[in-house]
Amino acid sequence: MAEQSAPTVPTDHILGVYSRAPLAFERGRGVRLYTAEGEEYLDCVGGIATTGLGHAHPKLVQALKDQAEKLWHVSNIFRIPGQEALARRLTEIAGLDVVFFTNSGTEAVECALKTARKYHWANGAPERIEVIGFEGAFHGRSYAAIFAAGNPAYTEGFGPALPGYRTLPYGDMAALEAAVTETTCAVIIEPVQGEGGARALPEVDLARLRRLCSERGALVIYDEIQCGLGRTGKLFAHEWAKEAAPDIMCLAKALGDGFPVGACLATAEAAKGMTVGSHGSTYGGNPLAMAVGLAAVQELTRPETLENVRDIAGYLGQQLSGLLERWPDVVAEVRGKGLLIGLRLHVNNREFMALARDQKLLIAGGGDNCVRLLPSLLITREEAREAVEKLERACEAARAKAAA
Ligand SMILES: *Cc1c(COP(=O)(O)O)cnc(C)c1O
Repeated sequence: MAEQSAPTVPTDHILGVYSRAPLAFERGRGVRLYTAEGEEYLDCVGGIATTGLGHAHPKLVQALKDQAEKLWHVSNIFRIPGQEALARRLTEIAGLDVVFFTNSGTEAVECALKTARKYHWANGAPERIEVIGFEGAFHGRSYAAIFAAGNPAYTEGFGPALPGYRTLPYGDMAALEAAVTETTCAVIIEPVQGEGGARALPEVDLARLRRLCSERGALVIYDEIQCGLGRTGKLFAHEWAKEAAPDIMCLAKALGDGFPVGACLATAEAAKGMTVGSHGSTYGGNPLAMAVGLAAVQELTRPETLENVRDIAGYLGQQLSGLLERWPDVVAEVRGKGLLIGLRLHVNNREFMALARDQKLLIAGGGDNCVRLLPSLLITREEAREAVEKLERACEAARAKAAA
């Protein structure tokens, strides 16, 4: 056996699971981020579609400060008034009945998958365990979440596949027709894929998926962790489709604007297997998270917020089409929905992100060699124009680099 050299200890002592940009920020305000040296960046990453209301939104800061001085944590063995208030609001806007609060998107997905399995078990159909997901999806990093998405890059090396998970090509309706049977538990889908590179499922297909599942007794789970709560210009991305309401829906990201909070919503019917003792969380729905969540939902549901998303999305759509025309050797395609925008590139997306950083613009990566623009939903036209100008210069640099 070849002698193995001792693994090197990372100098920062942090598990090396991220490839990080060589940048650290000290503070943020709206769409701006500032380094300790005072350098200013225009932020179109938004903590990966998380700071939907921008950085340090005054109402959220106030809500967190006020709660911090009163009570942080008590446990779910007590009633939590903030939880009841946020549950009332979320079920009202989502047209669903019950909520389980979590600390992250992954945990919301975990709760959704357990809820779906337990539903069929409670119905006397324990054989209905199969969960159908789609290629290019991202549902988080727990065992269930990685197998629900089926991305080999995230499942490899972690032992045998979790039984009962199956992945179909995104948008392949014929494959879905064939796959949903009497052993199907649920279909889990992002109405607009985020990490997969800002891919929107056609609205008619979402309605078709819903109809198919209803006919065959399978549950529909929407993972709206990235596309939900306003990012596409409607509160929930599935609302663009007619008659495509979910049985279960996962939220996180924008729900806390950067404070860790997630939610799994369901109809009372879909949640009927989840009785006392079947699930739980220490931190989920604690008073701090609920105070921020309530303030965030208050702002996200303002008609002006959604109007702004649609207005800026229209503006950026036009501007980015122009960019595509001027730099066809750099940009291959503009896609996504609302302010979940993807640019598929001809040049390497990681290198392009670095070129954008040189212009003091922060953009996110994505599958399919995409970069994503995920700015605050409150971004102004002026700021959006600035983002386009910086992208223009990044394209220029990318072309120069390719020619060199
Ligand atoms: C970010 C994300 C998750 C995972 O959320 P975490 O808070 O990182 O656990 C799940 N699904 C989608 C669609 C996401 O974008």
